[in-house]
Amino acid sequence: MGLFDGTPLDQPVTCEVCAQPLKQCRCPRDGQGKVSLPKDQPVRVQREKRRGKWVTVVFGLDPHATDLPALAKELRATCAAGGTATEDGVEIQGDHRDRILDMLRHRGYPAKAAGG
Ligand SMILES: [Zn+2]
Repeated sequence: MGLFDGTPLDQPVTCEVCAQPLKQCRCPRDGQGKVSLPKDQPVRVQREKRRGKWVTVVFGLDPHATDLPALAKELRATCAAGGTATEDGVEIQGDHRDRILDMLRHRGYPAKAAGG
């Protein structure tokens, strides 16, 4: 007899989105433990000129729910450009705004262009 047999603590807690036990749940979650799917993350893509060169800045992603280093790697490959993960997004060298918007939208992010 375990201490918690027959009590609610004996039941596996399930995820409210995928209905899997939490140990098996792979839903992306934010810092508060809430499920944060791509469609819940209003990501923005902006071009900025720094020291005369374009940089494409992706921001507004949840750093807990999104594997930003992995996304940075994919965007570098997609754009064939250098880039790095930031606190809430990715920066890619060069003007790749439209290509990145396309890629994020295909993945279910409500991505919008920001700035000029
Ligand atoms: Zn889940």
